[in-house]
Amino acid sequence: MADGTVKQTNPFSGTTVWTIPGRANRPITPTGPEPQPIDPEASGAYCPFCEKRYLETPPERMRSVAGVWRYALPAPEVVAGPADVRVIPNLFQILAYSYWHENYGYEVPPPGLRHAEAYLADPLGRDHVCAIARTHALAGGLTEEEWDALGSNEQADRGRSFFGSCHDLVIPRRHFADGAMLTTDLAGSGALTPDEHAEYTRVTLDAAAALYTGNVYAAHVAIFQNWLRPAGASFDHLHKQLVAIDEIGVSMREEIRRVRRNPWLYNDFGVAYPRAEGLVVAENEHAIAIAGYGHRYPSLEVYSRSAAPSPWQMSPAEVRGWSDLLHACHVVSGAEVPCNEEWHYRPPGVEVSMPLRVVVKWRISTLAGFEGGTKIHVNTIDPWTMRERAVAALREARAAGRVADMALGDDCPAEPLRYVI
Ligand SMILES: [Zn+2]
Repeated sequence: MADGTVKQTNPFSGTTVWTIPGRANRPITPTGPEPQPIDPEASGAYCPFCEKRYLETPPERMRSVAGVWRYALPAPEVVAGPADVRVIPNLFQILAYSYWHENYGYEVPPPGLRHAEAYLADPLGRDHVCAIARTHALAGGLTEEEWDALGSNEQADRGRSFFGSCHDLVIPRRHFADGAMLTTDLAGSGALTPDEHAEYTRVTLDAAAALYTGNVYAAHVAIFQNWLRPAGASFDHLHKQLVAIDEIGVSMREEIRRVRRNPWLYNDFGVAYPRAEGLVVAENEHAIAIAGYGHRYPSLEVYSRSAAPSPWQMSPAEVRGWSDLLHACHVVSGAEVPCNEEWHYRPPGVEVSMPLRVVVKWRISTLAGFEGGTKIHVNTIDPWTMRERAVAALREARAAGRVADMALGDDCPAEPLRYVI
């Protein structure tokens, strides 16, 4: 508009967002706790996701060490050394085993049963499973007396459901960045090297595919990353969540309706429109990153160019290219900005084609009454300002070798996505 107000509509969800001039250039100030010196005594044990506290979370499903993947290790091998990336069941699941079991007759799948037998046959493993089941039971309202009154077999049996988990976490090794001195020097996604971020991505895709394989009642596996408490994270240790759900989410159903009307939606609004509006941030052979528009928070989006029908069917080079641009978006954000990373992809069984795309949202403002009453969201940074910030930050990061090689800003050819219509 004439005064500089930008009114945006999200092409996939219809979300309406306004950016009001004058509010856009406020600096982003960290909102977290004051930095404190890191306690060297606590090294490796800052939180339950850290390497010396592996037995405080449910039994590990898989790990990657130096690029080698190991599945269903017994407890002594789990605690014998740190993993670069681990997949573990979430202790407090959004949809617990009982949801799937009681509503659908879901049972722990055969690989989970074998994992449970072997894990419980080892004394350390059995103690671990009982301790986790106890933590879970007491949080669920059981008293210590009631727990102690259960026999040891009943206690172990209650932990077996974790071997059929439908809500997993993917956790890289570091809590703090290498050489960190202060508690704010956290190892966010942008603190990883491009190689480490690619491995984190590969393991996430493998874990998502495993949830679909293990649970035939899963209509969708939601994949997301909450970074820092204002974005919903319980721990300051980097992790992604994968949650199997039995229906396709509300926003995805709306998106599917729009894709049926326009199968070229993603090329029109993920590539062509951002190119015309000067919103392309970065690009490589396999992916394109743009400054997002029509989001209630300042956002960066990365589209995969891959034609693969599901993300875990992408080629290694396609995964790497997409991961490199997602990593770059986190380098732009920095470790002090709370953010959500939301993955969008075609749920298996849906007949429309969709490319894998991810939205990184900076959670630097709070929804208020204006938004609640009007469903019009006020975003503090307009897409062009976001694009300029991102391109400037990535020029520096690329020169310093902190991100993989990629084209930036106006150098991007903005080539079409290849998803098959
Ligand atoms: Zn930690």
